Amino acid sequence: MKTFSRSDGHEGCLFSAVLLDATQTEMRLTAFNEDAKKLYPILEEEKVFFLSNCSVSRSRQQYKLKDMEFELKATRDTQVQECIRQDIQSLFQKVSITPETIDIISQKAATMDRFDTLDTIAVVHSIGEKREIDTKNGLVDTREVLFVDQTKHAIKLSLWRDKATVPPFKQGDVCILKNVGVRVYREQPALTLLSSSQLIVNPEWSDEAIKLAGWARTNLTPDFTPEGASIMSSGDSPAASKELRHRVPCREIIHRKCGLEFPMTFFVHGIVCDASSKKLYYLSCSKCKKKIEVQGQQSFCPNCQQTVAAVPRFMPRVTIMDESGTLSAMAFDETARKIIGHTAAEIFDADQRNPDREGGDVSAETREMLNEAVHREGIFKVTCKGNEYQGQVRQRCSFSNFIPLTAGKWAGEGRLLLKSIKDILGME
Ligand SMILES: [Zn+2]
Repeated sequence: MKTFSRSDGHEGCLFSAVLLDATQTEMRLTAFNEDAKKLYPILEEEKVFFLSNCSVSRSRQQYKLKDMEFELKATRDTQVQECIRQDIQSLFQKVSITPETIDIISQKAATMDRFDTLDTIAVVHSIGEKREIDTKNGLVDTREVLFVDQTKHAIKLSLWRDKATVPPFKQGDVCILKNVGVRVYREQPALTLLSSSQLIVNPEWSDEAIKLAGWARTNLTPDFTPEGASIMSSGDSPAASKELRHRVPCREIIHRKCGLEFPMTFFVHGIVCDASSKKLYYLSCSKCKKKIEVQGQQSFCPNCQQTVAAVPRFMPRVTIMDESGTLSAMAFDETARKIIGHTAAEIFDADQRNPDREGGDVSAETREMLNEAVHREGIFKVTCKGNEYQGQVRQRCSFSNFIPLTAGKWAGEGRLLLKSIKDILGME
């Protein structure tokens, strides 16, 4: 603290401090008179503080410290409070991490020693229901969380006790998990928090975390199905996922003429038998997605009333099979891509490469792409509607989603099968 006297005889005091934030940026704070007297006893070197209500100004050239463009000045309303939260303090301990992606972690999980740890940056995809587990220390809260990253792979983490009661993060948060253990539990790799582990939620100083948050905002739609683990497999509990509850055999959908009065949605566990169509795609408007007219090099959208870019949109007819029979329905764009494993643009390009298709509807190259879907197994979301055609209402089905059966989904499938066996045998 320094004192000064102005030419008019007025006496005053001031102090200044250099602050460092989590981005490793330095800034000077200056306080005068009453503000200085108030703040000086609180601030301490090497400690972390929250500051509020300071004024920010451009540094004056003659007082400029190093290359600090701006500086803070304490005001009458400035509040300074020591930060005692560990997670925030830890930001200043220069957390250095060597993050590994979830696909790699899943691969090496089986060969990891129980004392090995690693770092990862991942997004909270879903948070499971809280459960109570009977342990020798009494009932303990536990909760499963599913993390994903840009590799689209998922991995589970179990929270325990207080963290399970009130999770320290929410869906969509990006977390740095430092020094976490990896276990294989029920044939699935899972992360585990050790006493030496660090969990940092939404770190603003990490470029990787910010990039991943951007990825999550674009990709974590309700339709996003990660590969690998899953926590939506609680079979017959009320929390069972929709795709397990509204399950029907193919034959029922056709036999009962579902959807004629009002649209209905079901989930079928099936295998692709065939994917084909006279028209595999249509050319759509890049703006409104409606069908467009192509005349030579020009593509005109009747809806937008202008010349637009033509985007091929997928519409193959896919036939699937389950133990009850077969079901043929159209799959559109994104769903078609999930089932076939190719985009409409790839099919379109293949057609362009094979202009004369010897009478057949599709070229051998396209046929090969479509055949990759054959025997693909998963849960098909089927939407049924009534469609009026020449005075008659007919059932029209389409596939509106496809969820491939990955390792994590089989537990739920197993429970479902067990339940139907019990139903047949009349068991409780
Ligand atoms: Zn249009």
